[in-house]
Amino acid sequence: MSFWICATCAVEHAERVEVCAICADDRQWVPAEGQIWTTLAELRETGGRVEVLEREPDLWAVRSRPGVGIGQESKLLRTDAGCLLFDPIGYLDQAGVDAVAAVGDVVAIVASHPHMYGVQVEWGRALGAPVLVAEQDRQWVARPDPIIRTWSGDLEILPGVTLTQPGGHFPGSAVVHWAAGAEGRGVLLASDTIFANPDRTSVSFMRSYPNRIPLSGRVVDRVASHVERFAFDRLYGNFDNVIPVDARAIVRRSADRHIGWVNGDFDHLT
Ligand SMILES: [Zn+2]
Repeated sequence: MSFWICATCAVEHAERVEVCAICADDRQWVPAEGQIWTTLAELRETGGRVEVLEREPDLWAVRSRPGVGIGQESKLLRTDAGCLLFDPIGYLDQAGVDAVAAVGDVVAIVASHPHMYGVQVEWGRALGAPVLVAEQDRQWVARPDPIIRTWSGDLEILPGVTLTQPGGHFPGSAVVHWAAGAEGRGVLLASDTIFANPDRTSVSFMRSYPNRIPLSGRVVDRVASHVERFAFDRLYGNFDNVIPVDARAIVRRSADRHIGWVNGDFDHLT
């Protein structure tokens, strides 16, 4: 079955519409030359491949080389009861599917938010796993399929692995809490819901990262409070960005910094 991939965000589409709705939204961007579509076959012909890299015991990054669209890396999380594939990339090939399946039985594919849908249905079909889409964001699915199921709230998808929705970046924006991660101190797969900054000691909370649209102080406090219910020491973003240690305190400190800036506490520095 043929489908189309937006070259800018790498989200799969059943039809070639005039412009990708995800890219036309104020959180993303359409290239100056206009909408560009590609296909899996074209990406394969131009040298696409999948890399699987260990990030820590029982956690792998799955990424495409060259990067496709936004260029995120999926996180493949393994437990004794199976694996979760989080933030699926916008590319796959048989070698990549085999490499992911070799890690363990994938029981669900989940994107943190619509920018990370990638070719989620294609991954789901290849791995024989359902695709879970946040109920609040389901209107962004551009390739409907019977393997898609909706979810909301908190969902323990595997023992000790909980999907939860702080929202913010999108109404349904989700993170994954993995209690056994970081040698038992806990891990948060935070994607763009809570962005791990390059200084490795702070995070950011934005409606749009490329277009720099901030969230209000009230929403940032809500997002930080939401994840503070969980114990975690390490936080991974959806690229190779990570807060290696002390992440829970860093989320709160960064939230308070954001709130201070948007409230004008630091206007004397401008
Ligand atoms: Zn797009």
